[in-house]
Amino acid sequence: MGGTEEHYVKEAFDTNWVAPLGPNVTAFESSIEKYFDNDSYAAALSSGTAAIHLALSILGVSQGDEVLCQSFTFSASANPILYLGAKPVFVDSEKDSWNICPILLEEAIKDRIAKGKKPKVIIAVHLYGMPYKADDIQKVSEKYGIPVLEDSAEALGSTYKDRKCGSLGDIGILSFNGNKIITTSGGGALVTRDPSQKEKAVFLATQARDTAPHYQHSEVGYNYRLSNVLAGIGRGQMEVLDDRVVARRNNYEFYKKALSSVEEITFQKELPDFYANRWLSCILTPSFAIREKIRLALEQQEIESRPLWKPMHLQPVFKDEVHYSNGTSEELFNSGLCLPSGSNLGKDDLELVVHHIKKALQ
Ligand SMILES: *Cc1c(COP(=O)(O)O)cnc(C)c1O
Repeated sequence: MGGTEEHYVKEAFDTNWVAPLGPNVTAFESSIEKYFDNDSYAAALSSGTAAIHLALSILGVSQGDEVLCQSFTFSASANPILYLGAKPVFVDSEKDSWNICPILLEEAIKDRIAKGKKPKVIIAVHLYGMPYKADDIQKVSEKYGIPVLEDSAEALGSTYKDRKCGSLGDIGILSFNGNKIITTSGGGALVTRDPSQKEKAVFLATQARDTAPHYQHSEVGYNYRLSNVLAGIGRGQMEVLDDRVVARRNNYEFYKKALSSVEEITFQKELPDFYANRWLSCILTPSFAIREKIRLALEQQEIESRPLWKPMHLQPVFKDEVHYSNGTSEELFNSGLCLPSGSNLGKDDLELVVHHIKKALQ
């Protein structure tokens, strides 16, 4: 926590705004909108997953539709497709950005159209806070008239060509889960340049109540609004976002420098025009065996590290879904590792991690 969160939470208690609406929710949304230079509208929600669910619904996804989704991601990017009775179509990554490959994406779209169905939405993800190639994805999106849902859950604070991640797609989503760069313990937001989309998100997130003195509903709604107590945490966290990005980038720079002489280890690269928040510091090794050697040596010291995300097309739950793969995400999964990356790590902590990695490889 940054320090001012308790003040805003206390305000919620003192004024008895203990509900999924109130002054903190409104102020938290304003602070997100201000971060996006006041040309976007934000709806504060109970999770990033809820934001994806509502975004898909607002972009017109329903039963039987197909949705293109980056395969190399966390399952929450894809699960809401199934909540809506739609079908995910997974698309693999490119080697440089690690994110959805624009060329493979276009091939997938052409193939789906040839097979009789045009996908409804493209879900692209800024994985580990590294931007996807937004201009290239945008071109494909415009060429085929398929909107982009930008999963920016891991990328608050990142930019692409000086444009802020979260505002690059038709609708963006953010997560404030406990493991993200800033947190409300649990929470999320939907970000859009269209005020009517924000209005629709809030409507659906509050049980889709029609305007009437009694409770009347013409649509299926959800209970997805963020608590006013948690929004208080969010207000305080927005004040320290920049500091958190600096801390995470410093972790990465430290590891990169300290491990520069270790020839088995390479790092996730920041491409020209990319600025990553470095949510997690990720390394690549030459093989599964070497990756495991490092991971297990750290584990023995009670230092937690974790393999990169297991691609969705390799997940048991999605085994029957269509996928367009090129081997990239599978290789990243097999040989990559996330190192300890918390914003509160000290130099001693980082040195200890480096020491044990070097020792394991000796
Ligand atoms: C965390 C995360 C989500 C989901 O956010 P929650 O707030 O945990 O529901 C979605 N996509 C990605 C890529 C994530 O890392």
